Amino acid sequence: MTDSEVLDLFRQSGALLEGHFKLSSGLHSDRYLQSALVLQYPDLAERLGRALAERLQHLQPTAILSPALGGIVIGQEVGRAMHVRAIFAERQDGKLTLRRGFSLGPADRVVVIEDVITTGLSTRETIDAAEATGARVLGAGAIVDRGAEATRLSVPLQALVRMQVPAYQPEACPLCAAGVPVVKPGSRI
Ligand SMILES: [Zn+2]
Repeated sequence: MTDSEVLDLFRQSGALLEGHFKLSSGLHSDRYLQSALVLQYPDLAERLGRALAERLQHLQPTAILSPALGGIVIGQEVGRAMHVRAIFAERQDGKLTLRRGFSLGPADRVVVIEDVITTGLSTRETIDAAEATGARVLGAGAIVDRGAEATRLSVPLQALVRMQVPAYQPEACPLCAAGVPVVKPGSRI
């Protein structure tokens, strides 16, 4: 799958909007990305999972680990494509932890899967959660890497698309300066 094929799937499902948006942070942007809107279609989620699996198959993982909630759907699809377990870590007392009887151990080779990587923080935390069990983490994958600079992880990262999304304080927003009406994503537009 090429970058533009992936972005087309996002656009067609309303997961990538282009215009003038007020984000939940209060910052303004010319793009809005909500991967849950593409992943709500299981056929599209499966295609994205397969594309990501192709790029990570050489690592021959024994398990896929994703951070809840955002990484669960795509992690499941990568696991399906690779025929390995797909499990997730979730926050307990603020720390990403394996719960629900999920386990990893020194025999496991893990790939961490996210939907969107922005700062890489939750990916790093997920890597830590796996390594705390003695498992080896061999790589990470995401549908979209939004890292402003190359996201720094302790393992190689594969992303289907790399996309910088600029965000501005309202007073510094070029779209506001141009008089373009701002909309809040999620409301009717
Ligand atoms: Zn603006």
